[in-house]
Amino acid sequence: MSTVRKPITPKPPRVRDKVLVILQEQCKECGLCVEFCPKNVLCFTDIYNRKGYHPVTACDIEACVNCEFCERICPDMAIFLAERKEAENAYKTGAIEEGTVIPEFDNESKNQEASK
Ligand code: SF4
Ligand code: SF4
Repeated sequence: MSTVRKPITPKPPRVRDKVLVILQEQCKECGLCVEFCPKNVLCFTDIYNRKGYHPVTACDIEACVNCEFCERICPDMAIFLAERKEAENAYKTGAIEEGTVIPEFDNESKNQEASK
């Protein structure tokens, strides 16, 4: 057995095929997705939507494994996974509805702003 340690090479950041999309105006704060997300990605915001609920957001989007469980369990179709390319185009061109949150892209924008 060799006693020489292999160098530790950092893995490149994981790029998922799909991104999480939250339609905050459709969320009714039922908590199902927050409760059952296997990676504890989701949490409630402090803001109110037009229906008077605190909508869901992603507090730890990096932990998301694209399992689609939230999409399947949400009774209001307020959370789902979308094809990355499609979502990216819509996000960049501003072609998304008011109240639509794509946490992964929001984080990237914040990081870019911070590095300026
Ligand atoms: S796709 Fe899975 S891991 Fe990601 S937020 Fe939804 S339930 Fe959680
Ligand atoms: S399951 Fe749907 S309606 Fe319920 S808290 Fe999650 S996003 Fe909102």
